Amino acid sequence: MCMKLTDSVKTLTGVGPVVERGLQKLGLETIGDLLNYFPRKWEDYSKITKIRSIRPGNVALLAHVETIHARRSFRNRRLAITEAILSDGTGTIKATWFNQPYLAQTLKPDEEYLFAGVFEFKNSFLSLQNPTFEKIEGKQAGGRIFSVYPENKVITSKIIRKLVAQCIDLSSSLSDYLPVEIEKDHKLTNYAEAIRNLHQPESTQQLEEAKRRLAFGELFSLILTSLVLKRQIKTEVSPKVSFKLEYVEKILGQLDFKLTDAQRKVAWQIFQDLEGEHPMNRMLEGDVGSGKTLVALLAAAQAIKAGYQVALMVPTEILARQHAKTAEKLLNPLGIKTELLISALKTAEKKLIHDQLASGDIGLVIGTHALLGEKVEFKNLGLIVIDEQHRFGVNQRRAIKTKAKTMPHVLTMTATPIPRSLALVVYGDLDISVIDELPPGRKPVKTQVVFDSVRGEVYKHIEGRIAAGEQVFVVCPLIDESDVGGRRSVTAEADRLNKIIFSHRRLAILHGKMKPDEKESIMTDFRNGKYDILISTTVVEVGVDIPNASVIIIENADRFGLAALHQLRGRVGRSGQQAYCYLFTDSDSPTTVKRLGALERSNDGFRIAQIDLELRGPGEIYGARQHGQLDLRLTDVTDAKLIAEVHAVAQAFLDQDKMVKYPYIMKRVDELKALTTLE
Ligand code: ADP
Ligand code: MG
Repeated sequence: MCMKLTDSVKTLTGVGPVVERGLQKLGLETIGDLLNYFPRKWEDYSKITKIRSIRPGNVALLAHVETIHARRSFRNRRLAITEAILSDGTGTIKATWFNQPYLAQTLKPDEEYLFAGVFEFKNSFLSLQNPTFEKIEGKQAGGRIFSVYPENKVITSKIIRKLVAQCIDLSSSLSDYLPVEIEKDHKLTNYAEAIRNLHQPESTQQLEEAKRRLAFGELFSLILTSLVLKRQIKTEVSPKVSFKLEYVEKILGQLDFKLTDAQRKVAWQIFQDLEGEHPMNRMLEGDVGSGKTLVALLAAAQAIKAGYQVALMVPTEILARQHAKTAEKLLNPLGIKTELLISALKTAEKKLIHDQLASGDIGLVIGTHALLGEKVEFKNLGLIVIDEQHRFGVNQRRAIKTKAKTMPHVLTMTATPIPRSLALVVYGDLDISVIDELPPGRKPVKTQVVFDSVRGEVYKHIEGRIAAGEQVFVVCPLIDESDVGGRRSVTAEADRLNKIIFSHRRLAILHGKMKPDEKESIMTDFRNGKYDILISTTVVEVGVDIPNASVIIIENADRFGLAALHQLRGRVGRSGQQAYCYLFTDSDSPTTVKRLGALERSNDGFRIAQIDLELRGPGEIYGARQHGQLDLRLTDVTDAKLIAEVHAVAQAFLDQDKMVKYPYIMKRVDELKALTTLE
């Protein structure tokens, strides 16, 4: 038989219409798909136990069936039980299967099988429970490591193993993007062999080598792409912004605090980038409340005074308005015109701003996605700042750049830091600056995971804080739906708090369905102290700065990601007062306890990001869609050592100009470019 990778799975023995449909549901249509369907885990049954020396636990046996029969359970007539006596010459044991009566026909006496399963007590007898089994054929006389695949109702791992066994030889026609010379230099298994060993490992060492080889390949093309992007930007000529100290002094002179050392350091890095020959492409990471906005405004002032325009793009209207106020206060005294551009503006207002952007009158525009609008044109856009960059998609980040006539400086900012090793992979094209300290006097937010039983005490505490003149956030996962799956909604919660507990306090609500000017006036009033408690959805998650707020309650906290919770917590304690965060949950599952507990123990965004990554994996965190395409299937993104190694290899490959020798790599890099941050 002469099979090809593109052949349908139907050509394999054992694939009838039912199995075919089952495979289809898993996305497996061709033999190539099947070989590219990776195991989810492996069960090690490579050590064969002799029955004579068997102990309870996971065991693998080479044995034949002495007797086998199926019967009904005595207690439950609907339950079919199949029992067999297995023998390997050193002794016999009993094996039991439930609801698979046909096994009595499948398993042939006198044939030899590999049985693998758990040997344990059931109804006071020791027996091998529901063991999987495979017929021993040819040289396969030892035990083995079983690949376990993502399954569905029809397609079990056993079926996949059988199908893969029929076509595994075709793996020799598979290859990936890793150049053979690198494979050789680094003593890596070749790709085809790695695929074979991933499906049918003969030892744990072989399996580990296969995984490492495949992860190496995945990382190589990704990291190479980011390095290519990085090099490409070095061919662009930047808007030249020479540094003037007087503007920094003028801005800082208006403040009643000094820059932290960390702010000073990153501001300096940015100023140097702005002066450089090539455009800046830098990410500024800094924990919630570390003062990124000010750094961005210092940079903006330099660019504007050098004759360029600056766009500051933020994910929410609330944040845009807040930044616009800050910018106006700090930059207008320098003679810089700042404007807010959000979709809520009236048509005439927008038109005016569009005109003033086109004519160059506006120095700094602060806006939401409205900045991406077709009618937005700049005279001379030289610097783009993207705040809370993780809230924007690749396409949006790309779209704003098309507003500039030549490659502008780009500064992205985030309070959701990612571990350095992973940053090399997903943001390898960016330079990274970190603000690693908070302004002095900030106290860690006291965080507590709480259950309903202590609700009364929590409210009592809040009452005390309000009496002391402080303000409170209450965050709910829903807007007005009543209690979907035990989740609380803003409107119901506001009603409840208003009626019973806080009837003498001033409450307001805020959520995404409200009209923009309504939202705006609520935020302004809350900031001015007109309300004691703001009950809202996560619209307040990013960036919102209410210096007087000292308590935040988060309802159904288990419904939110760790990064989001950390961001929400960052809304309180922003002016040096002791602040509190109560995470309400009704779940006591171990994962919830572990996740939420991380917030109790740490106030460090970096630490929390690391824990989040370990618990959920990168796909969940950095956008499943995007990273599905990035195709990191075997890479352990916490494996800093491997990542650093591949990074060095890719860098050398690029530096030695070897890429031209490998057209297929160039093609892959082009594909990946379309998925990553730049271009
Ligand atoms: P984030 O980094 O989360 O965006 P912000 O830029 O919103 O933080 O700053 C948080 C608060 O800290 C703001 O009220 C800001 O005015 C204040 N702030 C910024 N830098 C300093 C500093 N060096 N000392 C004291 N307060 C500062
Ligand atoms: Mg911010």
